Parts: sequence; structure tokens; C-alpha cells
Amino acid sequence: MSKIIHKIKECIKDVPEYVAGKSIEEVKQKYGLKKVVKLASNENPYGASKKAIKAFNEFKNFHIYPKTDFVELREKIAEYLKVDANRIVLGAGMDGVLENIFKMFLNTGDEVIIPIPSFPYYHTLTKVHCARDIHVNRKKDFRIDAEMILSKVSRKTKIIIVCSPNNPTGNVERKEDVKKLIEETDALVFIDEAYVEFSNNDLMDLSDYENVVIARTFSKAFALANLRIGYAVINEDLRREYLKVSTPFPLSTSAVNAAIAALDDLEYTKQCVNLIVEERERLKNELNKFFRVYPSQANFLFVKSDVKSKKVAEELLKKGVIVRDCSNFVGCDEYSLRISVGTKDDNDFLLKALYDLRNEGVL
Ligand code: PMP
Repeated sequence: MSKIIHKIKECIKDVPEYVAGKSIEEVKQKYGLKKVVKLASNENPYGASKKAIKAFNEFKNFHIYPKTDFVELREKIAEYLKVDANRIVLGAGMDGVLENIFKMFLNTGDEVIIPIPSFPYYHTLTKVHCARDIHVNRKKDFRIDAEMILSKVSRKTKIIIVCSPNNPTGNVERKEDVKKLIEETDALVFIDEAYVEFSNNDLMDLSDYENVVIARTFSKAFALANLRIGYAVINEDLRREYLKVSTPFPLSTSAVNAAIAALDDLEYTKQCVNLIVEERERLKNELNKFFRVYPSQANFLFVKSDVKSKKVAEELLKKGVIVRDCSNFVGCDEYSLRISVGTKDDNDFLLKALYDLRNEGVL
């Protein structure tokens, strides 16, 4: 091993390598398949608004640095959320927002409370900052256990994570539970609402507390995952600190123009969301024939299988369907899968593959 490796921060050794899902092209090549459907990354299967694509393509000045502050996008987001534009921060995806917030708060040895299972990147980022991720089990229906979380708060607790709807379980949190956390600690409560557009519960009412950040993204309902635009509502004092730690040019002008156009075309996003929610309910009933399916308010379904999820995911891959085996998520067992809701055709393709696996005796 090269000597320089020993100079790297000690805590990075504990960071698990990120294992990205397989791409459609990879699976086509590996298994010699003509058709492959990806239901693994909770993307919007209908694609971006035509107006967003047009706005993206109109910008040509690639040689010029983007602005450091995109006021117009902040104002549009503020209008969409009905909050003050001075309380909006932007980031390179919600991943970028998370990165900045963790950078702002965490010293070596600090603690981040994560109700498990949840989005793996919270654990990664905590470890990257040489902090400790404190795991708290969820209740049977996957809601957070506020009492249990509060019992784990220590002097070192800096951030408490609330993901609603939660990835990978799809459930939403009750406002009272989250409010209790906010009011009974002085830690920052980071509320991740990446999937909120697919649900009928949001926690935006809680954004006025000074120890709350509510983050969202253009990657899911707005179908701009590749453009990497996330944002958060944050108190104004925190916003100033956020701007200090952010990289100077986290967003590209083309991406911002597309996001503005997407917010000008909310009707399109609503149509996508309606189709996805309708399909989610149909798919849930169909998947019940194969798995234990949990209620979801997101654009994916969390299921438990009798056969190990690794095996199910591998067998589905051979038939051209990519789903997410969650057995490596902290807090998931070896029978856990997350399946994104696709178009009707995508979902039918998945169901056909499942019937075939049943006929072959795999399921
Ligand atoms: N939060 C959750 C719960 C997610 O599932 C994701 C993406 N998978 C993100 C944040 C990050 O989203 P992005 O960086 O694409 O905005």
C-alpha cells in the first residue's frame, strides 16, 4: 500500500465505500438483455419538464463562472414554499446541503443521532467528520421513537436526523413527535423532505424554530436528479455561516435555469406526482402477492421478502429489473428491498419478472 495513505484522516478508514447501483447500460451488457428497467434510485420515470430541458439548453456561456448566489432561484423556491427568500440556501443536490451543514456543526467526537434505517449518506458524512453516528431503532411502523432519541442526547449531540418520508421505509413522521425533539433539545434537527411532494404530510410549519433545517431537492418530483440541485430553509444567522463553508460555485447556471423553469411548470410536476402516486397504490397491491409491503408516502415501496433480498435483487437483475437490496443499510435485515415506482410499463415489467421467478421456484 502507498505510504501516503497513512496521512489520511484516521476516521476515514471507518467510512464504508459507496456502492452505487448498477446502471441500465451495465446490466444490458452483463446479461445480454435488450430491455432493462431501473427501479433502484427513486427517480421520476417521466423525465424532466420540457420547459426545464429547454431552459437548460439555452445557456451557452460555459467558459464563465456561475454566480455564487442565485437570487432568482431562491425567490422562486421561497414563493413555492411560502417562506422568506433570505432563509433559503442552495447546494449541489441535497447531498451538497447535508455536506455543508455537517461541515458547519461537527467537530471530532461529536454525535449525530440517526433513527435507523435511513438514508446511508448520513452515516458516511458523520464518519467523514470524525464524529459518531448514534443509531436509534424505529418503532414497528418505522416512525421515530422520540422518547428514545431524547434519551440518547448527550453534550456531544450536534445533529438529530429526521427523514420524512423516510428512505428506505417510506413512512412519514408525526408533527408532534418532531416538535418534541426540537423543543426538548438544543441540537440541530435536520429534517430531510426529499420525497415530500409524493406525500400529503409536510413538516414545513416547523421551519421557524432556530434549531431546525428543512431540506428538499429537485432530484425526485422535479425530475432533475442529474443537475444536482438541493435547497434548505434555515434561520438567517445559520445562513450566513452556511455561505462561509459552501464551495464558491456549487451550482451551474444551466442547472439553475432548469430548476427555475421547473418551478414555472408546477403543473407538469403535479401530473408526474399524481401518476406516480396512483401507480404506487396499484404496485403496492400487486407486490403484496410476493412480499410484505409497507405503506409508503414516497415514490418507492419498502418490502420484506421471505427469500434473502440479495438473492431477489440478483435474480431480478438477470431478468432486466434493477431494484435496491437494502440488506447493507444500517438497521435493515437481510430480507429488505426498496423498489422505486416506475411508469405503468416499468411496473408491469417488474411484475412479470416476479411471476416468472415464482414459476421458476425462486420466490
Ligand atoms: N435525502 C434522501 C432521503 C435521499 O433519498 C436522497 C437521494 N437518494 C438525498 C437526500 C439526496 O438527494 P440529492 O442529492 O439528489 O438532492
